[in-house]
Amino acid sequence: MLRQNDGMGQFAKQIITWQQQSGRHDLPWQNTRDPYQIWVSEIMLQQTQVNAVIGYYAKFMARFPDVATLAAAPLDDVMQHWAGLGYYARARNLHKSAVMIMAHFGGVFPGTFDEVLSLPGIGRSTAAAICAFAYGQRGAILDGNVKRVLARRFGVTGDVRSKLIEEQLWQVAEREVPNNDIEAYTQGLMDLGATVCTRGQPSCLLCPLRRQCVAFNDGMIDQLPGRGARKETPHRQTRMLVMLHANSVLIERRPPTGIWGGLWSLPEIAMESDVLAVAKSKFGITPSKGRRPRPLAEIEHGFTHYSLTIYPTEIAVAKRELSAEEPGILWLDLADISTAALPAPVKKILLALEHKAKTKK
Ligand code: SF4
Repeated sequence: MLRQNDGMGQFAKQIITWQQQSGRHDLPWQNTRDPYQIWVSEIMLQQTQVNAVIGYYAKFMARFPDVATLAAAPLDDVMQHWAGLGYYARARNLHKSAVMIMAHFGGVFPGTFDEVLSLPGIGRSTAAAICAFAYGQRGAILDGNVKRVLARRFGVTGDVRSKLIEEQLWQVAEREVPNNDIEAYTQGLMDLGATVCTRGQPSCLLCPLRRQCVAFNDGMIDQLPGRGARKETPHRQTRMLVMLHANSVLIERRPPTGIWGGLWSLPEIAMESDVLAVAKSKFGITPSKGRRPRPLAEIEHGFTHYSLTIYPTEIAVAKRELSAEEPGILWLDLADISTAALPAPVKKILLALEHKAKTKK
């Protein structure tokens, strides 16, 4: 149930004052009006925490300093700079958007909310954040952190993942947007959600909203934001082939959509497959005589909607046939693993192998 706003602009004033005194001011993408830099940072910050983004952001900007450079770069290069950050559709959409900006906006990042919203990978909240930071345009944001702050402060009960409650939160978010200082307000909401009104143990005693906060005053912090009945996370398992020849390993490019779309990866095969038969028929591999396929340590990986166990199987390769040189397949030198565009768990498997190969020498 919604409670009434208790004073015109009070919430926004508290957020803005707090941001100016205690918020974050020196992040690498702050103190600029360059919409390109702000856009890249906002996309990286979707689903990823600030500390993890900082290093990736610096490398990405060094390689792709502007929209023209990003649009002209091969997708592979972009994916390589994203490898390890996760949610790879974000990188594909950044690249696609850069190409669109060159084709439809004359190479200039669009200047209105609707145009920004029309770019792939940009939703209502991200478009508003970009327009606030780059152009000082007034608009409401509602990412996961902001949902938590609003649900607690205004006592919005019900499952935040439901359409109905999300719509209620959007109404609150729209209602509270101030007419001025939109940059400090937007940053303040983000900062408060990330550093004070955290999921586990919010630091209520440091919070500027404490006196009016419904969750704090009614002892409902644990119940807000509300979640529906917890669903069991589905679990999947898969087998990956680790075909090693001298100091290189065979990798293949994954299809453009689906998990890790467009990234290079170890070939994935059905759990029950005959690994040698697949290696031979699909990749033209002749295994080394007397060396049987060897199971390596399994890896657990969590996605938003399911968990995955990867069972890697090592095959020592005697001979590389022509079919292993086809497009979408390549032999990667073990020394290049750390810089290759590989999903994090695949990189983990290969780095362990590389480490073992080094310590053997
Ligand atoms: S008082 Fe506590 S629960 Fe309420 S908004 Fe602040 S940090 Fe969050």
